[in-house]
Amino acid sequence: MSTTIHPSVDKGMTPAADNFSGGTLRCKCSSDPVEVSVSSQCAHNHVCGCTKCWKPDGALFAQIAVVPSDSVKVTKNEDKLKVVDSSAAIQRHACSECGVHMYGRIENKDHPFFGLDFVHTELSDESGWEPPQFAAFVSSIIEAGADPDKMGEVRRHLHDTGLEPYDCLSPTLMDVIATHTAKQKGVL
Ligand SMILES: [Zn+2]
Ligand SMILES: [Zn+2]
Repeated sequence: MSTTIHPSVDKGMTPAADNFSGGTLRCKCSSDPVEVSVSSQCAHNHVCGCTKCWKPDGALFAQIAVVPSDSVKVTKNEDKLKVVDSSAAIQRHACSECGVHMYGRIENKDHPFFGLDFVHTELSDESGWEPPQFAAFVSSIIEAGADPDKMGEVRRHLHDTGLEPYDCLSPTLMDVIATHTAKQKGVL
């Protein structure tokens, strides 16, 4: 049996398009969907196994990327958006009707990722987004009910697909966080 990760990965990933400048994210409501315009290519796109990111039905992982916050604008049906958990570092704005997370914003100016919003690029019809680069928080899929005995298979499949599996974020992003912390402490 083949291992399924996420629809965007399972159907085969397409490379980022040159000069791609974003698209419109749409929630899953059949009428009056929330629309969010993103006027930028994404970065650090990855699949995420955590239990906080929104996942499409049946997917083992979410697909999530960052874009500059000032490139994100809610253009339709903003009144349907609600923050999932206002105590979380990432304020995930979800459609109160279909549950899809439209964007996640960091309001804490001291956070290493302040100024970036988290978005699910699969919600846009445009092609050309940077595809996922790695797999984050892989072990966390167990918390959502994945079989612990299948983890070897899942990690092997991710690796073979070109998505190096990590149980936190990628080394690059962990370095960004540690550098930010070191600068705040004055040791760098
Ligand atoms: Zn919706
Ligand atoms: Zn996540």
